[in-house]
Amino acid sequence: MTASPRFGERAAVALKDAFLQEALEIATTKFIGLRKDSFAGFPEGEGLRDQARAIKEATLQKLDHYLEQVADNVERLGGHVHWAATAEEARETILGLCRDRGVKMAVKSKSMATEEIELNEALERAGVTPIETDLGEYIIQLAHEKPSHIIAPAIHKTKGQVADLFSRELNERFAADPEVLTAAARKELRQKFLQADMGITGANFAVADTGTVVLVTNEGNGRMVTSLPRIHVAVMGIEKVIPSMTDLMVFLAILARSATGQKLSVYTTLVRGPRRSGEVDGPEEFHLILMDNGRSRQIAGALREALYCLRCGACLNVCPVYRQIGGHAYGETYPGPIGILLTAMLKGDRAVKDLAHASSLCGACQEVCPVGIDIPRMLIALRHRLDRERIAPLGERLMFRIFGRVLASPALFRLGAALGRLAQRPFVRDGRLRSLPLLFGRWTRSRDLPPLARRTFSERWKDLA
Ligand code: SF4
Repeated sequence: MTASPRFGERAAVALKDAFLQEALEIATTKFIGLRKDSFAGFPEGEGLRDQARAIKEATLQKLDHYLEQVADNVERLGGHVHWAATAEEARETILGLCRDRGVKMAVKSKSMATEEIELNEALERAGVTPIETDLGEYIIQLAHEKPSHIIAPAIHKTKGQVADLFSRELNERFAADPEVLTAAARKELRQKFLQADMGITGANFAVADTGTVVLVTNEGNGRMVTSLPRIHVAVMGIEKVIPSMTDLMVFLAILARSATGQKLSVYTTLVRGPRRSGEVDGPEEFHLILMDNGRSRQIAGALREALYCLRCGACLNVCPVYRQIGGHAYGETYPGPIGILLTAMLKGDRAVKDLAHASSLCGACQEVCPVGIDIPRMLIALRHRLDRERIAPLGERLMFRIFGRVLASPALFRLGAALGRLAQRPFVRDGRLRSLPLLFGRWTRSRDLPPLARRTFSERWKDLA
């Protein structure tokens, strides 16, 4: 992907991309429908969502305790635990393992944590070949792109585009048929699982009281990555720890439903350290990297609730902004409404000064979130901080200040409405505002607006009183 320098420009390009619009419309509509049907036939769902939220909150309150517990238990099972304060430390730990153990090839299962630390690029620079084995990740690796969705990395591509990509990269003509394309990827990847020295995964959860690392996937690749290479490395944000297996059951009951509308993902893999004597499968070494990278700062920070996130992707599918522009336009590892908050968490508020406005605040994200994260509230607070700390451009700050004054004063509001009605006259066509001048023209470039009503609500109310 060639990223344009500014969010607005990337979004404009995305809006004009007919293939992207088609792919997004099909995929997000499908996900929304599947999720809705799944919860409609699951009356316990609402209660479990409340329970999951409460577990996340209780875990954050004693996060240090649960992290120590999970680390002790992983080591008791024969694994190695590495603490990484930053993305760089996480990367260096993995590169160190590759150097010390002569790793030349690593197979990977889908992991946003490894995207976050830009691991593939670092491995390549160090002479280690990373091979993505999740179908979506494999597609974008072949295309030299980044994921555009948390759970469906190649959601931005139509099957025709994937067929063309495979035909070009694998030197064989393939039909635009998902089964044919999946079989082609499987054939290419099978040998790689056997050749690789290291398997790298993320982790959906780590259970503190047993030391179990949990992977939730829909393709068999996760199991191959965790069991065939001689070394397995799992990279996990520290917020993914949960207290017990009983808690895990709560999350499993709502995670796949929220993500893909399934009752349960096809594979739920529970990793408990390396292969033990007498066992046939499993790696000789297991390493768990517990990564902070800005997370612990937010335990007492404004983005605390974002630490509840299960990375199900449901909030992306319903977001009216994401559904129009897709993930690449955000220009960051984590797209969508939660992505804006996670980017602020990882890189600071300044990094999202444009993205903070890429939300209509409609609340659909909170409604579908399996842990009820109040994304709109945090986005409003983020915008407020951008204003207070003078990060937002001067023009924007002035405009919102004036707007705030007008809304706070009935007299100014009435005057503004009267002036607005006068000013809009030359631009109303067929009952819509389709082309506004100056700065306002940026709004009507890709959408229209209803004109200001002839009379305000309070004017009409007076007549009724
Ligand atoms: S914020 Fe909620 S809906 Fe969005 S990815 Fe995270 S858990 Fe899923």
